[in-house]
Amino acid sequence: MTPQDMIVFITGATSGFGAAAARRFVSEGAKVIATGRRKDRLEALADELGDACHPLPLDVTSHEGVQTAVDSLPHPFREISVLVNNAGAALGLGPAYEADINLWQRMLDTNINGVVYCTHAILPGMVERNRGHIVNIGSVGGRQPNPGSNIYGGTKAFVHLFSKNVRAECFGKEIRVTCVEPGVARSEFNLVRYDGDMEKADAGYAGLEVLTSEEIADAIYYCVALPDHININVIQLMPVMQAYSPWNLYRRKG
Ligand code: NDP
Repeated sequence: MTPQDMIVFITGATSGFGAAAARRFVSEGAKVIATGRRKDRLEALADELGDACHPLPLDVTSHEGVQTAVDSLPHPFREISVLVNNAGAALGLGPAYEADINLWQRMLDTNINGVVYCTHAILPGMVERNRGHIVNIGSVGGRQPNPGSNIYGGTKAFVHLFSKNVRAECFGKEIRVTCVEPGVARSEFNLVRYDGDMEKADAGYAGLEVLTSEEIADAIYYCVALPDHININVIQLMPVMQAYSPWNLYRRKG
């Protein structure tokens, strides 16, 4: 797929990775449908990127809303060839036994149902045209336990296996599926996690050289721009200043 042939539907394009990916794809010559709930951000992005960007206000937690939005796309943007399921959030950092069920529900609705609804609305058209690439944004947090990430990590584990299952089921068709799994990266992610508390959000990055949203967009674009016969199944990236923790957490007797 050449960039000029790409019609890219990006969820969560109002900030962070999604906005960076929209800029990256358009700069390469692709058309982008930029979605998210904040209409003003989408309009600003469309002003910046011009006719190649179609702003589409959308809450991915609404099945009907997603289907209607996809069905009502204007002609030059109808035949989506790349879906970037990026919208997502981590809300809170407390232990499971103190969790707010509403925050858990919101993470399930956004990180799981949002991916499911967009895939359900867009994948059949890709199969009909025998051409498409789905890029799902997982997380290193979906591959190993991390205290405070109870439901968030669980939703990203879902994204990992869902990606692989869809890929397996599309075997024999010209459909690619990739799960991009970032470690800590700078975006509005922490601000959302800490409910708008900028001080706490910034403290999470203090002293760290973290990944940037543009670097994640590079990884997404890299996977999509590869020759059509190559499928990156999973790509995981972390800053060098982050690593796996060893299994040394013991509660000793006495
Ligand atoms: P941001 O908070 O900067 O961006 C999140 C995006 O998701 C926003 O554009 C937001 O748009 C959108 N979004 C949230 N809820 C909804 C909804 N209900 N409907 C539609 N859009 C929604 O964070 P990131 O860019 O960092 O996050 C992007 C993805 O990367 C997420 O899936 C996140 O879990 C994942 N990730 C992030 C990491 C990090 O360290 N930053 C690490 C690993 C994974 P709006 O509010 O306008 O709707």
